[in-house]
Amino acid sequence: MADVPSEAPQHCPGTESESAGKASACAGCPNQSLCASGATKETDPAITLVRERLSTVKHKILVLSGKGGVGKSTITTMVSRSLAANNPDKNIAILDIDMCGPSQPRVLGVLGEKVHESGSGWSPVYIEDNLSLMSIGFMLESSSAAVIWRGPKKNAMISKFLSEVDWGNLDYLILDTPPGTSDEHLSTVRYMRQAGITGAIIVTTPQEVALLDVRKEIDFCRQSNIPILGVVENMSLFVCPKCKSTAEIFPATSGGGSKLAEEFNLEFLGTVPLDPLLARYCDEGKDFISEMPNSVTVKSLQDIVKKITIKCESDETVNSLKEAKKK
Ligand code: ADP
Repeated sequence: MADVPSEAPQHCPGTESESAGKASACAGCPNQSLCASGATKETDPAITLVRERLSTVKHKILVLSGKGGVGKSTITTMVSRSLAANNPDKNIAILDIDMCGPSQPRVLGVLGEKVHESGSGWSPVYIEDNLSLMSIGFMLESSSAAVIWRGPKKNAMISKFLSEVDWGNLDYLILDTPPGTSDEHLSTVRYMRQAGITGAIIVTTPQEVALLDVRKEIDFCRQSNIPILGVVENMSLFVCPKCKSTAEIFPATSGGGSKLAEEFNLEFLGTVPLDPLLARYCDEGKDFISEMPNSVTVKSLQDIVKKITIKCESDETVNSLKEAKKK
């Protein structure tokens, strides 16, 4: 089977896709005629393995951001913790494939844990009875070691992560991805195509420089047939912990996340304030959600989680997921 060539276009639909060789992104790709002939549609065994492994996972969500440092990992952690705390009967897991900076082990307070292997696969690390984590960070020698792998090695690791972790039955699997649209995103989407991605949450800060890159994430999702659950605007307002007055540290000169969501006809899931206490709790690996239940930040996060839950269960999302799996 022909693999995606290293010089594949940025929005390569994947060699097994129905639109392989026919999408506008395929123009000029060296594989275009081979893909268009249908010769590449034989399914990669890894895609089948991923589908089988993730068949016990109800909702699979990607968390995306245009830039690093906008709080994508923080939102991933907070949404997951909040889902787990609100739904003790549901099982939640995080898969951290952010090879640029796998921060989930630190934020969830399990830095230094190692992955154990059993007959049924790699065991994730449990944070709570119903919240588990698998992270690229567990594979590194130390927390300061960089991942300097080339594309094929990264792809192999993503395929293993998606097909070999023994999650058990999960209601939500939330993937923390690297910033931007990189090889890791293309591989993840390709491997998960048959398993199905419920949708993506796009995280941004209010400034135009961040929003510019978010437009590329939206385009990536649309070209890859990934439903967008909505946009979260992080670090929107600063609430002074002492006097409670607010300040706009990152001004939304062009209307911020809500205007962007409106422009692209997406749901605006809400805002999370810039909260120094949240940053401190994350640095120390402590559970902000359960320790600060009355904070404005936790209330904002809970509203966002409620909307995500409703969106995941909505007929529109379920139907577009079925359509995406067919392509
Ligand atoms: P990304 O995953 O987008 O690179 P992170 O989630 O790692 O970003 O966040 C970058 C830094 O900003 C971290 O130190 C984190 O604690 C901090 N941070 C994120 N969101 C907030 C927030 N709402 N309030 C305060 N600090 C935040």
